[in-house]
Amino acid sequence: MPLPPISIEFFPPKTPAGTRKLHKVREQLNVFEPEYFSVTYGAGGSTRSGTRQTVLDIRAAGCAVAPHLSFGTDEPEVIGELIDTYRDAGIDRVVALRGDAPSGVGGSGQLRYAKELVEFIRERTGDHFHIEVAAYPEIHPESRSIEADIHYFKEKVEAGADRAITQYFYNADAYFRYLDLCSRAGITVDIVPGIMPITNYVNLKRFSAGCGAEIPRWLDRQLESFGDDTETLFAFGIEVITTLCERLIAGGAPGIHFYALNQSDPTRQIIRNLS
Ligand code: FAD
Repeated sequence: MPLPPISIEFFPPKTPAGTRKLHKVREQLNVFEPEYFSVTYGAGGSTRSGTRQTVLDIRAAGCAVAPHLSFGTDEPEVIGELIDTYRDAGIDRVVALRGDAPSGVGGSGQLRYAKELVEFIRERTGDHFHIEVAAYPEIHPESRSIEADIHYFKEKVEAGADRAITQYFYNADAYFRYLDLCSRAGITVDIVPGIMPITNYVNLKRFSAGCGAEIPRWLDRQLESFGDDTETLFAFGIEVITTLCERLIAGGAPGIHFYALNQSDPTRQIIRNLS
């Protein structure tokens, strides 16, 4: 089974040691020739300079890179300048998001929907950027229904998005059903599954509760049973994610987007298994 194009997501490191580590991780993962690396962005600009620097470093190393972007509560011109910087650096892909306000930060302003950012990028730079947006096979946590969520997803596509990357999930059926529903709603862009390797049960559980990704009971129980045995959990996680990716690829997934969390080992092992 041929491996579809892969993309790999990082977050901007906060320390010089983190930056050195990410440099090495990128080199290790670059051997798999990803279509692009992407770098997350803290809505409200909390990582604005860190994201920009990480993006420009990856670009300077000769790799394709897609910065994540969101208006947050910033003035459009602030984001416009960032977009211009990326375009001038030869970057031609972005991931356009609404973002989530960082925890602990009060709601001083309304977050602006991703669709508005897609429109803004198109108005400012025409067709220069390939725009990726987010999609939710297990429904965005703030959505009142899957239909409403798909309706707003379609609006992002009509505003000019070229492709979508999903929130991570561990239930392949949710993804395939979502593809069907999107197709029936007239959405024709590719929807690339986002894959979160499993390396830490406590963190995964906390993060999943916040973003609305379901950990199936059988998986939750098994992970919990490993307790402090991180080695066994890691090996089990690789096996589970490899099987999930195999199913997705066999079902025609147009790509795989890895949430690598600035680590190389899990993503490397999964890609090797798939190759
Ligand atoms: P939107 O598409 O704007 O949707 C947000 C919610 O509003 C949904 O419930 C939608 O149904 C609803 N909605 C949309 N339009 C309307 C409307 N007109 N009226 C009423 N409701 C509406 N977060 C970060 O902070 N930084 C990142 O770098 C980041 N990267 C991500 C990468 C990927 C691949 C994914 C899947 C998520 C990422 N996130 C990131 C998380 C994301 O920002 C959150 O899930 C956020 O809550 C929603 O962002 P969105 O772009 O999907 O928003």
